[in-house]
This record gives sequence, structure tokens and C-alpha cells, in this order.
Amino acid sequence: MESFREMSKEELQAQEVEVNKKYQEFKDLDLSLNMARGKPAPDQIDHANGMLETMTDYHAKDGLDVRNYGVLDGLPEMKEIFSDLLDIPAKNIIVGGNASLNLMFDQMMRLVVFGTEGEKPWGQLEKVKFLCPAPGYDRHFMVTETLGFELITVDMTPEGPDMDQVEKLVAEDESIKGIWCVPKYSNPQGICYSDETVDRLASMKTAAKDFRIFWDNAYGVHPIFEDVKVKNILDACKEAGNDNRAYYFFSTSKITFPGAGVSIIASSDDNIAEIKKVMTAQTIGYDKINQLRHVQFFKNADGIRKHMQILADCLKPKFETVLNTLDKELAGSGLISWESPKGGYFVSVDVLPGCAKRVVELAKEAGVTLTGAGATYPYKKDPKDSNIRLAPSYPTVEELQQAMDLFCVCVKKAGIEKLLEQA
Ligand code: PMP
Repeated sequence: MESFREMSKEELQAQEVEVNKKYQEFKDLDLSLNMARGKPAPDQIDHANGMLETMTDYHAKDGLDVRNYGVLDGLPEMKEIFSDLLDIPAKNIIVGGNASLNLMFDQMMRLVVFGTEGEKPWGQLEKVKFLCPAPGYDRHFMVTETLGFELITVDMTPEGPDMDQVEKLVAEDESIKGIWCVPKYSNPQGICYSDETVDRLASMKTAAKDFRIFWDNAYGVHPIFEDVKVKNILDACKEAGNDNRAYYFFSTSKITFPGAGVSIIASSDDNIAEIKKVMTAQTIGYDKINQLRHVQFFKNADGIRKHMQILADCLKPKFETVLNTLDKELAGSGLISWESPKGGYFVSVDVLPGCAKRVVELAKEAGVTLTGAGATYPYKKDPKDSNIRLAPSYPTVEELQQAMDLFCVCVKKAGIEKLLEQA
């Protein structure tokens, strides 16, 4: 395809007439499609329905009746499954409730209220800053914004956060207390951190003694095209002599039922002891019936791995629809670039600077809701107004094809408008 950026004003104007016609045709279809959030489709969730069949045995392996009180930090057999799946010693795992974001918020609150490493609680400090690799997950940014921290954007590279930036920032400024990380098939770009990135995060010198990595491995067992191995941050921190630096989060939200799964927080021996001390006051225990349901359904870590293959088969045609349509309609157009993820839940695209909001608005007017432009950046402000997150999981392949055809028209329309403005 000829690049729109090479075209003369007259050529662009001719293209604009064509694109406007196509856009109007889409508007006339009265579409109503949603690609805003990474929700699994109903047919994908159905694969976990076996878990909802009536339980006949309410007893854990050690004979404990899960219908009653008892066990703060999770059923041993649930821990064993996560331990095997994620290669973390069971003793370093606390099993939580229905979703991991809750554990992340609680952990952040513990640092705000009680502090760690004998340092002042973060809530008593004049200023707390947090590193936010972007594009990233909007709800991470919201947690730290809600607690009043200053969010500092760090660029993403194909190997993870730009470590030159990160190392410089954390070495110089002791008010920088931590960093958000989605190490595998990141939301939204699908980036997998390289071993070097993991090692540099684990070993870097930080001005803050109580610097913390919030390691959210939400897509840790979610390959679609290729199973990538990412180095274990807890091991890397231990090797570097910074045992307490990382909190590791994971959940079955994108494995069984979003918002009704099982979550974990894992960390060093010291951190686990510190967390349990406060957790004891917070709850008698999380939902063990749900934990046992998960154990009975999957049986072991291999059960989860096999299930993820089924889910990958559901997601693959959807990701192919998105990637093939971008390729067919826009490759070489000079109006957009994108990453091809190997797994996870999203495809991230960058349109011409100053065009993302316009593309999202055009799609909305024609009946397709996309993730809000800017959502992937701290404070919802994309400095270039360029990044858009596409979430292919919920619509059917047919719906997705329609939505993507329209999306490509919107990218062309917004791009041509911008180029004509500059011509
Ligand atoms: N972390 C990331 C990176 C996510 O993309 C999501 C879901 N969109 C979550 C956490 C939410 O996980 P949970 O349901 O376990 O809170």
C-alpha cells in the first residue's frame, strides 16, 4: 500500500472522499459492538462450567471442612497447584479472595499505613512517587493515583520498561517507592520482559530502602501463539540479595471466572510474615469453598495448563482476525504501527500523534466502543494521543471482523484529516 504520508494534498483529498463514503456505510449499519475491556466471551467462560456442578465433597485433603471457618492463607492443595504452575515455593504463597487487584490494593494500603523495612509508612511521607511503565494497565495507575502518589511515566521497550530510565530515576530519588510491572504478555502491548530486564529490576540500586516491585503476572499462563518463558522475579531478587523487593500477584480471573476466581500474593519469607500479621486482623480467611472447587476441577497444575490450551484455541481466531485485518487494510499506510502479541488479551496500536481520541470518537459514532484513548497512560493522558488498546476477546469472530473493518476506516479517516491539517 502507498503510504498516505507520501501523498500530495490532492491525492489525500481524493482518498478522503472514498473513506468518508465507507465510513457513512458503516454508520448506516447501526452497529453496536464493544471492544473496550478484556472480558472473556461467554463461550470461553463456559469451559469452566464444570466447576459449578454441585460439589459433593466439602473436605480438603487434610480433612478440613471448607464450609466452616479456618485457614487464613489458603488450602495447602490450592497453594501446591499455584506453586507448581508458577514455580514459587508454597510457603511463599498466600491465597486470597476472588481477584488479585484487591490484593494489590491491600498491599499498597499496608505500605501506606504500616510501612516496611523499618522505614516510615508511606502515608506519613510528604511525597510518594510510583513508576508506571506505559502503555500499561489503567487500573494499576488508578490504585496509585487514588492513594495520592505521583505517577511517573516510564517508556516501554520490546524487552519491558526502559531500564536506563528506571535505574536512573530510582537511584536519584528516594521518594520513588515502587514500580508496576506486567511481565508477561503485558496489558496492552503483549510484551514479555527479557531476562536482562528482570535481573536489572531485581538488582538495581534504589535510593529508597523500601522500594517495591508490584509484579502482576496476570497473563502468566496465557500463551496464544507462543509460550514465552519469563524469569522468576522472586528468584532474581533473592540472587541479587534484595529478597524483599517484589510482591508477585496472580489470579484465575482469565482462567476460570473473572471476578469469581482465586488470587494469590507471593513474596519473601519476611514479607509473607509481615503480610499475615495484618491480614489476621483483616479477615478470618478467604473463600475456601471456591478454592476447593478450583482444586477439584483442575486437580493439578497440568489441569490448568491443559485448560489454557483450550482457551488459547478460543482466542486465536480472534487475534488472527485483528492482526490480519490490520495487515490487510493498513500495512504500509504510514498511519499506524502495532505489536504482534504472542499471548495475553490485547493488541496495542499507535496511530498518528494527535489521532487516537479522534479514532475512538469516530468508532463510537459508528457503534463500536473501544478502550478510551489515553487509558493506557497515567492520569489517562497519552502525551502523544497515539495509543489505542484493542480487546478482541469478547465479540464473536464475525462481530470482530466488522468492528475491525470499521476501525481501519476510522484510522484512515482520522489520519487523512490530520495530514490535510498539516498539508
Ligand atoms: N492485572 C492485569 C494486568 C489485568 O489486565 C487484569 C484484568 N484486566 C487484572 C490484573 C485484574 O485481575 P483480577 O481480576 O485478578 O483482579
